[in-house]
Amino acid sequence: KKYNFKDSKVIKEIDLLKNLHSWSAQGNLDPIVVEKAKGIYFWDSNGKKYFDMSSQLVNVNIGHGNMKVIEAIQEQAEKMTYMGPGFAVDVKSELASKLLDIAPKNMKKVFFTIGGADANENAIKMAKMFTGRDKIFSRYRSYHGATYGAANLTGEPRRFPAEPGIPGFIKFFDPYLYRSPVDFKDEEEACNYYLEQLTEQIIYEGRDSVAAIFLETVTGSNGVIIPPENYLKGVREICDEFGILMVCDEIMAGFGRTGEWFACDNWGVVPDLITFAKGITSGYLPLGGVLVSQDIADFFNDTTLMCGLTYSGHPMGCAAGIATLDVYQEEGLIKNSKLRGKVLGEELELLKEKHPSVGDVRYIGLFSAIELVKDKVSKEPLVPYGQDPGKIMPLILSKLIKQGFFTYTHENIIIVAPPLIIKEEEIKEAMQIMDRVLSEVDEMLK
Ligand code: PLP
Repeated sequence: KKYNFKDSKVIKEIDLLKNLHSWSAQGNLDPIVVEKAKGIYFWDSNGKKYFDMSSQLVNVNIGHGNMKVIEAIQEQAEKMTYMGPGFAVDVKSELASKLLDIAPKNMKKVFFTIGGADANENAIKMAKMFTGRDKIFSRYRSYHGATYGAANLTGEPRRFPAEPGIPGFIKFFDPYLYRSPVDFKDEEEACNYYLEQLTEQIIYEGRDSVAAIFLETVTGSNGVIIPPENYLKGVREICDEFGILMVCDEIMAGFGRTGEWFACDNWGVVPDLITFAKGITSGYLPLGGVLVSQDIADFFNDTTLMCGLTYSGHPMGCAAGIATLDVYQEEGLIKNSKLRGKVLGEELELLKEKHPSVGDVRYIGLFSAIELVKDKVSKEPLVPYGQDPGKIMPLILSKLIKQGFFTYTHENIIIVAPPLIIKEEEIKEAMQIMDRVLSEVDEMLK
């Protein structure tokens, strides 16, 4: 059968008829038919313009349509689209070298993957091989990917389809201070509490049984949860004490999102492994990977690295990655994230002051979240955890999107994470839309 795929109605109709969409009941979807994307904007088939205030899935950090990356992809396609992972290829050597230049200094080698989930899958295996131990710790409010192993790492409900799960995957609590069950005197007391709890849990699980602790350095889709000042340093010390590997999942938080190349740079903490994806190519092509420290790199000199992917180190992805890293550097985007992040933070604080529905705002660089509540004092979430029977959050999201503010929500949280090229005026203009929609949410509370 022949369809006219130039007709936006046909595009949408066939999309709904023949494509399965992620994380959705398929019955009542209403996808935007997108026609083009440039910079921090994209346009639908009716010519309506949207601010891309989540950088799609917090990956299009350099913005859409950057010609430097597009041309690098075109050049690579003409030269050589694919070569197997066993070969030495110029772009793979160059990207590894560029990455290691910007990564924390203890990082010595990289294993390239296709995306984030498989980066975590491989990091799990490396940690198990290196330590000879079985157990893997990760946190409840985390998302580490949707493949089976990564879903077992994940703590939030997106892990449930992988339940009852792989034995040895243990969850611990996040230092999520806004919703902490204990009324702490200050951040330091809270930090100590969570670190002591983690230590106790490791001892109960067996001092010599834990291979790795995985954490999103700054928790992303579960609400931009920023660790208290000494938390990551404390986790590092616990890992050293028990011979556990510290794995920072920087898939969302890496590549300038928090105002530093890697989020762990904000606290000067050096993990043993870093997983990355998303921002490495800004979504222009799929690519991810695992950075490993000297000790781990050395270990695999004599021990076989039992990891492999047909597309590990795909030349197209590597070419896109090199050009993307150049763009971050040439356009000063890491610094921009920090500078514009201040503006975004001020806007968010104003919203929190003004709107009864805003319980908390959290931000670091251009990575931020607005947490909605029924009541500021009781902090009761606008929708209960894991449930939204009244479809309130989709309603709020649709109001934002209708007014040209594209982003996504998770539980009772709205993510705001625009491309790192965004200008001050653009942040202010977009946040006016947020302000109007939050006024409507305030009304819903009455
Ligand atoms: N880890 C984190 C922190 C993420 O945010 C994501 C994706 O959103 C992943 C892992 C999974 O990455 P991917 O979707 O590329 O498999």
